[in-house]
Amino acid sequence: MPIHALAQLPGWFASLIVVLLGLAVGSFVNVIIYRVPRQMSIVTPGSRCPFCHTPLGVRDLIPVISFLLLRGRCRSCRHPIPLRYPVVEGLLGMLFWVVWQRDGLNWSLPQDWAFVSAMVALGAIDLEHRLLPDAITYPGFVLAVGLPALLERHSHFPWPGLESSWAVSLTWGLVAASGIVIIAVEWVDYILIGRHLEAQEAGEHPTDARMTAEEDGASGRVFLPRPRLMLSTIALGIALAGLLWVKRAMGADGPGTTAADAVVDACVGAAFGGGLLWILRFAYFHLKNIEAAGFGDIKMMMMVGAYLGLSQTIVTLIVASACASVIGLILIFRHRDRHIKIPYGFFLAIAATVTLLIGASGAAWPGGF
Ligand SMILES: [Zn+2]
Repeated sequence: MPIHALAQLPGWFASLIVVLLGLAVGSFVNVIIYRVPRQMSIVTPGSRCPFCHTPLGVRDLIPVISFLLLRGRCRSCRHPIPLRYPVVEGLLGMLFWVVWQRDGLNWSLPQDWAFVSAMVALGAIDLEHRLLPDAITYPGFVLAVGLPALLERHSHFPWPGLESSWAVSLTWGLVAASGIVIIAVEWVDYILIGRHLEAQEAGEHPTDARMTAEEDGASGRVFLPRPRLMLSTIALGIALAGLLWVKRAMGADGPGTTAADAVVDACVGAAFGGGLLWILRFAYFHLKNIEAAGFGDIKMMMMVGAYLGLSQTIVTLIVASACASVIGLILIFRHRDRHIKIPYGFFLAIAATVTLLIGASGAAWPGGF
């Protein structure tokens, strides 16, 4: 079925399809939330109960409904299923519908759906593990820079003076380099702060850190990404630049000034959002010798900044800081502990989603697919 046929369907039926799609994606996002921080494959093995490892059948995998029918317990071991499963599914069903109402049928829709799904995944993982996996933020950043350029999404903040003659090379260059940029930034941070923190942590808890990491199934505090992830991130940027080249070779106009606008806005948004947090991290580390903002927060902010562009990045930072301060103060007051770790990525995910939904749609091709 061609996707634009969705426009001809009765309203309630189209809504139903969109919500069902959101629920199904939510079910997949739950797999990501459970497996990515534990460094497990998201493809194999098939879904199984995390407590008794019994493989799950089709009737156990229906979003929300299965949870209700099973009254929140595993069919074989009766272990309670975390409430997170139906919450994530229901949330994405709702968000898919809201984004569709806002965007209509055009190239912004699948991008925005992917973005809100990534925000839900990152927010939930950060809440549970205080961790924002590179496996999501690296490709997320590259896609946030490259896709709006490829699909010529209008910039929220048009940059004047981009002439099409060199806008083409600029677009290709920035998209192709995006993977290298985020990895270079990671290396610089590792040399300046990361390895000092690593040494500090090893000195403080020589065995503790390693033990909890093994229990989690994750390799603990990873300061440098795995080589395979680095290579695929770099390859993704180059591949997106290649697609831009193919699009032009096939006679489409792009990448023209609209693509250049989108890619420049993405880079400025990422540099501003990520840069501001990075300065904060440097300042705290040098003045107080503590890690105020984790580097995962900075990579996530680079991804969010690239996707939302400069103006919406500013809004996101304000909303996230307000949320984090209020809830952080409540946590500190309740636990009487100033050193409690605040899941900043969780607040960032909420703020970015809210900013995306209240901001103007980036729709560039109202003609649809
Ligand atoms: Zn079970």
